[in-house]
Amino acid sequence: MEQRTKAVIYARVSSEEQKKEGYSIEAQLDLLHDYASKKNIDVVMEFTEAETAKQTGRHKFAEMLMFLKKSKDVNAILVEKTDRLYRNFRDYVDVDDSKFEIHLVKENEIITPDSPSHAKLVHGLKVLLAKNFIDNLREETQKGRLKKAEQGYFIGQVPYGYKKLGDKKTTIIDEEKAPFVRRAFELYAEGKSLERVKNQLYEEGFIYQPAHHKISKGQLGKLLQNINYVGVLKFKDVIYEGKHPPLIEQDLFDKAQLSFRKDNKPLYRDNHDFAFAGLMTCAECGCAITAEIKKDKYIYYHCTGGKGKCEQKSKYISEEKIEKQFDEAIKAVSLAQKHIDYIKQGLKESLADKKEFSEQMRTNLQAEEKRLRHRIDKITNEYYDDLIDTKFYNERISKWNKDLDEILIKLEALHNTEKKYYEEGIKIIETLKNAYSLYIRQIPSEKRKMLNYLLSNCTLKGKKVSYDYNLPFSYFVNFDSCRKKYAWRDSNARPTA
Ligand SMILES: [Zn+2]
Repeated sequence: MEQRTKAVIYARVSSEEQKKEGYSIEAQLDLLHDYASKKNIDVVMEFTEAETAKQTGRHKFAEMLMFLKKSKDVNAILVEKTDRLYRNFRDYVDVDDSKFEIHLVKENEIITPDSPSHAKLVHGLKVLLAKNFIDNLREETQKGRLKKAEQGYFIGQVPYGYKKLGDKKTTIIDEEKAPFVRRAFELYAEGKSLERVKNQLYEEGFIYQPAHHKISKGQLGKLLQNINYVGVLKFKDVIYEGKHPPLIEQDLFDKAQLSFRKDNKPLYRDNHDFAFAGLMTCAECGCAITAEIKKDKYIYYHCTGGKGKCEQKSKYISEEKIEKQFDEAIKAVSLAQKHIDYIKQGLKESLADKKEFSEQMRTNLQAEEKRLRHRIDKITNEYYDDLIDTKFYNERISKWNKDLDEILIKLEALHNTEKKYYEEGIKIIETLKNAYSLYIRQIPSEKRKMLNYLLSNCTLKGKKVSYDYNLPFSYFVNFDSCRKKYAWRDSNARPTA
């Protein structure tokens, strides 16, 4: 017997629509049930959402995503049209369409994981743009926060051996932990191995953490290379003058770094030097694939096997062999003239989505900014009128100023992200047009970035690299050329042939 499609139904009306004629949940449900029975689709669950102006979150939408995640045999979502399912830019990222058919009933379109249809192509492009927008927004916000680092303050956690004062800004030496750090540097500067230093610290009674008396070799290696201990603040390879006191002398730090060079262990080498490090995981055990240099010049990759014994740990593959496989992966991405119109359409539609999303976000942030400024003014007046005491005033004002800072950072991030959005569209087209020639000219770290952009789930087994193409690039892959030779996993798009 043929297996019937099992589906969920999602219907939604916005608060605006409810005021108008002709929009109702019932009408959508009728349409969708009618469609289901004509197509012999079993509806297993209905999710309906009638938004009110007050309640903006989409609870049923989230519920549906949870339901789909849990259920094994539901493979389709029925909706009236695209904007029912994706109200928000962000939703594109949440709905995993590599697993479900999405039936856009009124638009008479089915987006399936199997067929690279026109609709799916446009859709894939929108997914990528939405995802990039949100990633960029996060990145820009982070950048804004990190401007604070340039002023010499630690963001978040301070290094082991320091602590933050109550004002959360001033960093001082933690006299309980600092001796551990000083002793570690001394011992390592004497030329002892990490293993030896680690054990000697313990023997001499230096306790790393209450729960872990001994420090691990990896943690020790990192600690001994942390230049922040001399009173500077290193952020993204730039060194700023720190606002915290030095815990050790520059001289001692330098001596310890010399020991690292003598040790000559590839273990603590910066991954940035290796083109494909951090890109792949082991197909057997899921651990990271790392690289090391053999005989001073040959680069080999292998499984780190950190989760226990993995057979792959002893299997080394040369960088050249990996490079060749990724080269082929990129080579297979190409843009045919007939696709250009789809891309233009996708960009146009995505632009409209983005506009709505960021306008909404800006309005919310500005409202919050206004509210906070008003509060700050009000409490300041009350303070000068002697209506409240100093302690209460200080507490409030510092919290609200912090919140205000965060909002201003977010507003600026939004502004910068919007500027980037246009570049993103161009980047996608450029990448599609000349993926290979762009790729081949790059330095290793840029190559890795581009691979991350085009591929995901890269794994290594023996000498074989496997990967998935990201949306929408999966639609532009010349499948014949790459399938023959390499293990390409066709999880999110499959040619119908
Ligand atoms: Zn492994």
